[in-house]
Amino acid sequence: MIRALEHFKTITYHRYLVAKGCFAVGLYYQGLTHDLSKYSPAEFIVGAMYYQGNRSPNNAEREDRGYSSAWLHHKGRNKHHYEYWIDYSVHAIDKGFTPVPMPRRYVVEMFMDRVAASKVYNGDAYKDSDPLTYFSKGKGSGLLHPKTEAQLERLLMMLARYGEKRTFAYIKNHVLKTASPAQRIRAFLLRQRILADYGKLKKEAQREAKRKM
Ligand SMILES: [Zn+2]
Repeated sequence: MIRALEHFKTITYHRYLVAKGCFAVGLYYQGLTHDLSKYSPAEFIVGAMYYQGNRSPNNAEREDRGYSSAWLHHKGRNKHHYEYWIDYSVHAIDKGFTPVPMPRRYVVEMFMDRVAASKVYNGDAYKDSDPLTYFSKGKGSGLLHPKTEAQLERLLMMLARYGEKRTFAYIKNHVLKTASPAQRIRAFLLRQRILADYGKLKKEAQREAKRKM
């Protein structure tokens, strides 16, 4: 019973973190429905039974049964997992699998999922570069479509380098284009102002150079 409560708290807190990230970039529906299948009996009962506290109960189930029934149920229903997007190949392709490119909004949800997981696992020691470090360890498995892998890596690199505020703004304005018309106009005007300033600076520098000649 205690483990069921702890498991409930863990998944709900994870969902809260992912929802916060998704809301920040305008993915409201995905933020609200992220990982909802974890409350279904097929996933919840197994999760509570194998609750560990410091790692995924799926791995404990795997060690016990040889595979995780909860994970099979989960990845088949949640489009933010790249495993959802793996088909088998009718051509002679390496390993016989065909990863399909993920739609951008699910790449972004996968990004938020990884950030939230890193925050939970690393606690107070969390740094913006942690999700990238984790990604680098599993890179090149061939299970993600190369385009999807590159998109995810770009976002993680941006996060490591520029932090959440700028990365989320980039996602909102350029990856998903979910910014409101007013936000887009503001971004456009800001860009015009920067370009104008840049033009002025360049002209001044040219004038200065001519004077010196
Ligand atoms: Zn999930």
